[in-house]
Amino acid sequence: MRQKEAYYSHDTDLKTPKKPFDRAFFEQLPKTDLHVHLDGSMRPETILDLASKDGVDIGADSLKKLEKLLQPGKMHESLNDYLKTFDLTLKVMQTEESLYRAAYELVEDNAKENVQYFEVRYSPILHTQKGLSVTTILEAVVEGLNDAERDFGIKSGVIVCGIRNISPEVSMQMAELAVAFKNRGVVGYDLAGAEYNYPARDHLESFNLILSNNINVTIHAGEAYGPDSIHQALHYCGAHRIGHGTRLKENGDLLNYVNDHRIPLEICLSSNVQTKAASTMDKHPFKFYLDLGLRVTLNTDNRLVTNTTMTDEYFLAYKHFKLSPQNILDVVINGVKSAFIPFEYKKWFLRDTKQRTIELINQYSEQG
Ligand SMILES: [Zn+2]
Repeated sequence: MRQKEAYYSHDTDLKTPKKPFDRAFFEQLPKTDLHVHLDGSMRPETILDLASKDGVDIGADSLKKLEKLLQPGKMHESLNDYLKTFDLTLKVMQTEESLYRAAYELVEDNAKENVQYFEVRYSPILHTQKGLSVTTILEAVVEGLNDAERDFGIKSGVIVCGIRNISPEVSMQMAELAVAFKNRGVVGYDLAGAEYNYPARDHLESFNLILSNNINVTIHAGEAYGPDSIHQALHYCGAHRIGHGTRLKENGDLLNYVNDHRIPLEICLSSNVQTKAASTMDKHPFKFYLDLGLRVTLNTDNRLVTNTTMTDEYFLAYKHFKLSPQNILDVVINGVKSAFIPFEYKKWFLRDTKQRTIELINQYSEQG
């Protein structure tokens, strides 16, 4: 038993805390966010500002009214209901300036809470309402990220999304775009949108193109549909990571496969309860997965729509699942290990993050 524990945990000298960790501790923790949507993570002030500058009617002209419309953090009927909120944010994300700004501010918001690295995902096709080309749409976001990375000293990457409920042809177009921007800001390809009734294998051609160009794949699966969706993502579409994987627990054999192959799960706790992927936080399998040794990571999904931050997600996980200092270190390390970054850089990043996390845990633990 002792040996098994040592194998998947990181086997370090962590002090026992004299009092519980507070929110400030989790804010200082060097974090990653591998699953965050650009169109669900804008600042409300920016949405209002862009709407007024660009003359877009969003049905709200004050923060109060906008909040009433969006109801950030609301419990939804389903994933499809949750996704409706994006119609509003997308209205103001149809110009180069707005896309640049959304990307730039996302880096700033992440840097403020010590997220060291994040991967932002979006589907350029959803930003063509005013005639922008998908190339311009991608360039605007990459430029916003690059400029902010220089200003705030953290790193990021873009994941291009195909959309399940649009069409396989559009997914193919998004895959071609991801290939064109490989090593120029894009680090991966994903399939997002309505999961129920829209199987990933319909988009197989796009995955073939992505994989034959040696590009990373993550797929939303096991959120609004069962383990079969995860099975397809892995075995038909070649996913290297799974977005959510909340319902993986329903198939023990597949769960073992995911664990044996160290396939990362991008867990988004608050979002999963809001979309009813998990009926309550108590029913969420996060801790069950963590105890089994699965490579679980914590992520926001949507900072605005879900009304969360990485600090909030860690603090929530800590309080709700009574995480130990070793659990916290493991989840932080899992985030770095699962990142779509070159191994040469990852080695350094891993060593640095591990050391800083241990120091922080021990420093906090000694405070009475
Ligand atoms: Zn998502």
